[in-house]
Formats: sequence, C-alpha cells, structure tokens
Amino acid sequence: MSIERVACDIIRVLGLNPGPMTLQGTNTYILGTGARRILVDTGDGQHPAYHGLLATALGPNSRISQILLTHWHHDHTGGLATLPESLLTLDHTVHKRQHPYIAALRGSKDIKDGELFATEHRQWRAVLTPGHTPDHVAFFDAENAVLITGDLVLGQGTTIVGDLAPYMRSLQRVIDLEPRILLPGHGPVVTANAVKHVEEYVSHRRMREKQILEVLADTSNEDGSGWWTVEEITAVVYPLVKDPRVFRAASNNVKLHLYKLKDDGRITCEDSAGGAVRWAIIAC
Ligand SMILES: [Zn+2]
Repeated sequence: MSIERVACDIIRVLGLNPGPMTLQGTNTYILGTGARRILVDTGDGQHPAYHGLLATALGPNSRISQILLTHWHHDHTGGLATLPESLLTLDHTVHKRQHPYIAALRGSKDIKDGELFATEHRQWRAVLTPGHTPDHVAFFDAENAVLITGDLVLGQGTTIVGDLAPYMRSLQRVIDLEPRILLPGHGPVVTANAVKHVEEYVSHRRMREKQILEVLADTSNEDGSGWWTVEEITAVVYPLVKDPRVFRAASNNVKLHLYKLKDDGRITCEDSAGGAVRWAIIAC
C-alpha cells in the first residue's frame, strides 16, 4: 500500500524506491490535519509518481509548510529538490540537524535536541540519535508515545551502522522513552512490542560483540599469536558467508565492533608493517 493512514493525523507515503537497501522503499510521513502539514523525509527524488501520492494524501486543501529530515542519506533527502511548489506553502521551511562532517543542505535550519514541531494534536520533539549517521534525528510524540525512528531502527531486519558506540547510546535513549508505536524510515510500522523491537537491536549487537571477544580470546588462529585480522575474525563469526560482497559487508560490521571495543579499552590493535591491521584482546 503506497499510502497508509497510520492515525487520523499521520499518513505514511512510500517513496516508491524499493531496493535491497531500502526494503519496500523509504517511508515518508505527513503529519497534522489542517491546511499546513509537516512532511518527514522526502524519498530519493527519482520517482515522479511519488508527487502524485503526496498530492493525494494531502488533499486539495492542505500543503506542506515544514519538512523535517531524519538524516542526510540520499533516499531521505534526495526528493527535496524536486518537490513541486504546488505541494508547498510559500513560506515552507526545511529542518535538518547540522553536523560539521556533513555538508549542510542549502536553506535548511538546524534541529536542536528537544526542539518541538507542533501539529494540531501533537508535539513532535526532536531526539538526537547519532550512529546510523552522525546527523540522525528521531521525532517523539511523548503524549501518545509515538516515535518516528528514521533509520535508527527499521520495521524489519537490521540497519546499517556508521559508528557503533553512539548508535548503542541512541538505542538506549530511545528505549528509555518507552515508545508504543514506531514509525520507521523503512519497513512496516511497528504497533506491538515497540520497546522490545528496539531492545532486539541492542541484543543483536551485544551478541556480535560477545562473539568477537570470544574469537579474540582464542589463540588458535593461523600463527597461534592471538592477533587476528578483521578477515580472520569475520570468517569465524560469519561461517556461512561465502559471497565476497556479503563477506565485505560482514567484515565492515566486525570492524565497527572492533573500533567500539577498542574505545571501550577491551581490545588493542597493531599495524603489522604494511600488512593488515591485527587485533588482540587486552588481558585483564
Ligand atoms: Zn539511512
């Protein structure tokens, strides 16, 4: 279903960009009931039929007056440039968290933690949730415990993580909000066991971390030294992965965990003279 009414004042509109990374496409959300609505995320801008969906969802008497962007990824912000003026109010504003490492979107306003965006029946509070990307923001309606999650957690499957330590902190921050309903950037809306859904993302990462520590505690690698390369660790943790592309993605994931564990002071690495970086556990 390309247009789904989630609540009387929340409409999910699919970005029409399905793919292996986007599941059935990017979810965008129209918030509010009046003439002036909020649009959260904009799709990738490659699918003009999306504009027809937006027009249908808005109806003849309302336009978008505020655009909130959860993070810079193209499938969330790419549609901004091509949104037809007929769907926007003349004074519409664009809001995105600014970050020193990410090029600012022209004309967009920074989003501060805790900033409120109001619709007729709800107050959406910005919750800074870095990790998927450094500029990631979720939006929380505390009164009804509804959370717009962006790509922090998806409706199904796991998400790509850019930096694991802040990502884990963001998951915990969201769990502490005790949301009842999750409106994710991809995949179905989560209406049951929302906190458990987020907790599963935490336990999935903890399980990987434990596995990696177990590998590093083992000295039976190739040279018996207890120093492991990322590839060696990946081969043990993901024994069934043979496809080189999937293996590369898996070793990137392992690498994220290694950097986090190093930050935590639990493992160390050495640069073996031009060869691959090798990792070892710090004995306690
Ligand atoms: Zn993303």
